[in-house]
Amino acid sequence: MRPSSRQRGYTSDWDKYSRWFLRQPQNIFCRRCKANGRLVRSRCTDHIKPARYFPELFWDQDNHQPLCVACNTAKGREDAARYGDARPGAGQKPTA
Ligand SMILES: [Zn+2]
Repeated sequence: MRPSSRQRGYTSDWDKYSRWFLRQPQNIFCRRCKANGRLVRSRCTDHIKPARYFPELFWDQDNHQPLCVACNTAKGREDAARYGDARPGAGQKPTA
């Protein structure tokens, strides 16, 4: 499985910030796994509100959370289902 941290819109500034973010003591472990009582090292800085739908929140630290790779993948699927996805047939279209 290849980590795809370099999607559209993600710059080297973001990479730098993300590395810093994941080094912060409160961000070392995946937030979702931690909520389930598991301590898993975080690997991704997730946009709680996805950056592709909320570009204005891209750099808003309140919109960032540390996730492991598995949780980040699951979150991506949930986002696609919740907010719609560019690919036809993937996820549901938002009704509101
Ligand atoms: Zn996790």
